[in-house]
Amino acid sequence: MIFLTEPIETSAQYLLNDSRQLTSPQRSIFFAIKGPHHDGHQFIEALYRKGVRQFVIETKACNDSLIKELSKMKDCSIWQVENSILALQNVALNHRKKYNIPVIGITGSNGKTIVKEWLSTLLANKFKIVKSPKSYNSQIGVPLSVWQMNDSHTLGIFEAGISRPDEMENLEKVIKPTLGIFTNIGSAHNEFFPNSVAKIREKAKLFANSDALIYCADYVEMDEFIKQEFIHENQRCKLLDWSRVLSSGIRVDWQIEEDGTSIQVIGDKELGTEVWESERYKTHFKDEASLENITHCIISMLHLGYDFYEIQSRLHSLRPVSMRLELKEGINDCYLIDDTYNNDLAGLTIALNFLGQQTQRQKKVLILSDLLETGITERNLYQQISQLIIEKNIEQVIGIGEVISRNKDLFPNALFFRNTPEFLESREISQFHNALILIKGARRFGFEQIVHKLVQKTHGTVLEINLDAMTNNLNYYRDKIGQDTKIMVMVKAFAYGSGSLEVANLLQFHGVDYLAVAYADEGIHLRQNGIYIPIMVMNPSPADFEKIVTNNLEPEIYSLRILKAFSEFIDHQNRVAKIHIKLDTGMHRLGFEKKDIPELIETLRSNPNIWISTIFSHLVGADEEQFDDFTRSQIRLFNEMADPISAGIGYSPTRHLANSAGIARFPEARQDMVRLGIGLYGVAVTPHDQINLQTVGTLKTFISQIKTIPVGETVGYGRRGKVERETKIATIAIGYADGFDRGFSRGVGEVLVNGVRCPVIGNICMDMTMIDITETQAQEGDEVIIFGKDLTIMELAEKIQTISYEILTNVSGRVKRVFYQI
Ligand SMILES: *Cc1c(COP(=O)(O)O)cnc(C)c1O
Repeated sequence: MIFLTEPIETSAQYLLNDSRQLTSPQRSIFFAIKGPHHDGHQFIEALYRKGVRQFVIETKACNDSLIKELSKMKDCSIWQVENSILALQNVALNHRKKYNIPVIGITGSNGKTIVKEWLSTLLANKFKIVKSPKSYNSQIGVPLSVWQMNDSHTLGIFEAGISRPDEMENLEKVIKPTLGIFTNIGSAHNEFFPNSVAKIREKAKLFANSDALIYCADYVEMDEFIKQEFIHENQRCKLLDWSRVLSSGIRVDWQIEEDGTSIQVIGDKELGTEVWESERYKTHFKDEASLENITHCIISMLHLGYDFYEIQSRLHSLRPVSMRLELKEGINDCYLIDDTYNNDLAGLTIALNFLGQQTQRQKKVLILSDLLETGITERNLYQQISQLIIEKNIEQVIGIGEVISRNKDLFPNALFFRNTPEFLESREISQFHNALILIKGARRFGFEQIVHKLVQKTHGTVLEINLDAMTNNLNYYRDKIGQDTKIMVMVKAFAYGSGSLEVANLLQFHGVDYLAVAYADEGIHLRQNGIYIPIMVMNPSPADFEKIVTNNLEPEIYSLRILKAFSEFIDHQNRVAKIHIKLDTGMHRLGFEKKDIPELIETLRSNPNIWISTIFSHLVGADEEQFDDFTRSQIRLFNEMADPISAGIGYSPTRHLANSAGIARFPEARQDMVRLGIGLYGVAVTPHDQINLQTVGTLKTFISQIKTIPVGETVGYGRRGKVERETKIATIAIGYADGFDRGFSRGVGEVLVNGVRCPVIGNICMDMTMIDITETQAQEGDEVIIFGKDLTIMELAEKIQTISYEILTNVSGRVKRVFYQI
C-alpha cells in the first residue's frame, strides 16, 4: 500500500464520489468523502473488488480498521488528504487551467439552469460547448462539470450554487469564468446568511476574475453592492448592467403582445457599454421569469459578437426547459422514466443512474434516440454508450435514429428503428412487461408519442411528488439529529398519500435505518418490490403473524395479549423474531402500561426466541407549546418504563419517542432513534423548520370547459352558487372522490390558475368542480393547481378546520402519482 499526498496526478477519466455510479473501474478515481449522512470510506473495499485502483481518502477517516483494509489492497494508489472535496476541486482546477477558452459562469437565486441551457442552445451554432449536466452546481457538481472539458471545446458554460458562506471562492477557482451572469437574488435567505447583502457578497465572488458581468440593476441591493463595493475590488470587470426602469446602463423594454413579447435592448455610450441596435427582439414567452432569463441571454450574445438578425433567428429555437426525470406507472406493470432533455452523454449517465436507483422492477429497458455530443467522434460516442449500457445492466436496448442504427454492431441484442413512427407501428412496443423503461430521446424524435403509448392513462389529475425536495427534507432532519441518532421513516397510509413504493425506494437509497407501516400488507407490498431494509408493522393482528415473519417484517407488540399470541406462534416456528415494544405514556391508544411491566419482562425472559429490537412510545402534543409540560412528563415516564425493561431482559434495545414535532422541539426526546413523518413531506411545526423544508407534493388538474354565466343564474347542484355579476366559470377535473374535500365548496376553497387564486363556486361534485375565473386569463386545457408551493396544504387544512395529514392522505387512489427528480 502506498500513501501519496497531494497534488493528485491521475490518469483516470472518471472522477467518482458515489460508489453507486461506478461505470469504468479501471478508468475511475474514487474520492471517499466522510459526510454527515454517508461515509464514502465504507465502500472502498467493494470498489477495489470491482477493479477500482485509485482512491482518495481523508485523514479523519483513517482509523485502524480502514488502514488494515487498505493494507490488503495490492497495486493501487491511495492519496491521503485532509478534505476529499477540496482535493476533487483541486484536480478540476488544474484541469481547467489547461484551457484558454471563454467560460460563462452563472449564479443567482433562480434561473441558473435555464439560462445555462438556453445559452447553450443559442450559442451552439458557433461554439463547441461544454456545460454543467442538469443542475450540477454544488461543491461536488462543479468540479465534476469542469472535468468534462477537453481540447475540442471552444466555450464553457457552468453554473454555481451555494448555500453557505465561504463556498463560492472555491467554485470560482474551479470555473474561472471570463464572463459572469448574476441571474437575480431572491428575498428568502437561509439561516447561514444574516441578510441578503451577505448572500449577494458571497455569490458575487464567482466573478472575482471575470472580464465582464451581466446582471439586472433592478435588483436594488444587488446593484448597490456591485456598483459600490464589487467594482472597486474588480476594476477590470466591465459591468453590463441592464434595467427596465433606470436610464443608466443598458436600457431594456418588454412589450407584452398577443402572441408573445417584444424586447428592446439599448446600450449607453456615456457609460461605456456598447451601443446596440434598437430593433425589437420577438419571443413567444410572456412570463417575467422567462423574459429576465432571455434578456440575460440576449446581452450575452451581443457581448459575444452576435448581431441582431443572428440573435433573432436563434431565439425562435428556445423552448421551456424541463429537466425533470419523471417516474410514471406504465401499462403491463411497467414503470417509465421519461427524460427528453439533456440528450448528451452526461444526461444519459444521470438518467441511467436514476434508473439504477429504482428497485421496483428487475428488468431494465432503454429506449434511446441518436445523441448529441460535441467533442468526440461518433464512433467513440457510441462506444461509450455501449459501455455504459453494459455496466448499468440494461437488459434490452431499443435504438431509434439513423446514427445509432449505423453503429448497431456496438449493441449486440439491441433492436433498431430508423425513426419513431417505425417503432410505434412495430410489434415491439407492446412487448414490455414488468420492466423499468428509460425513454430518452432528443426532442426532434418526438418520444412523447412513445411515452403516450406506454403510460397508464389517467383522467388528468395528478399528484406530482418532487423526490429532490423529499431528499432535502430528509437530510435537513438528519443534520438536525446528528450522526449518532438513527432514523425511522413513517411510510404508513401510502406514505402519507405520496406513494409508498417510490418513497420507500428513495429512503432505502439514502440509507435510512427503518421504515414503519400501519398494516402487514403494506409491508409485504414493499418487500415484494425490492425494499430490504427493516420494516416495523404498527397494527399486527395474530392472523398476520405468519405473513409478517415470512416477509421479514417486525411487529409492534403493544399488549400482553398480543405478546402471548406472538410468543406461542413463534415457539411453533422454532426461530427467532424481532419485535418492537410499544409503551403507553399518555396517548392512551395502543401500548403497555406501567402495571404491565413485571409480567411483560417475565414473558420476554421466558421466550428467548423473541428479540426486542426497539422500545418506543408516542408523543401526543409535541407540536403545541401549551402541552410542553405534558410532553416532558411523557419523556420522563418513557425512561422510567424503558429502564426496568432493559434491565429485566439483560440488554438495551434501541429507544425512540420523537415524531416530526418532537424532533423539532424536544432534543431530549430524540433518544437513539427518531420517527420522521409529516416533516419528510414538507410540513413543519416551527417557522425555522418550515423555511428549510421544501414542498414535496403538488396536486394538479386542468380546465375541461369555460363558460360565461349571466347574473342571476346558479352553478352546480342545489343551486348553491349564485352568480351576482356576469361570471366566467371553469369546470375542472377534480371532485371530492379525488380527495378535494366537499368542505371547500362555495368559496371556502381556492385554486391557482396561471398563478391567480380562483374561488370555488357552488358545491363540489364527485368528479368535478366549478371555479370563478373572471379575474384571470385562462383557456380550456390550462393547468390548475389544487395545492403546492404557492398554495400550501397547511393553508388548505386551515380553511376546512382539519390537519395537513388529512389533506395529503385524502388524495384518492385514482389520482396518478408522478415522481420526478431534477
Ligand atoms: C405517524 C406516526 C409518527 C409520525 O408522526 P408525524 O407527526 O407525522 O411526524 C410517529 N410515530 C408513530 C407511532 C406514528 O403513528
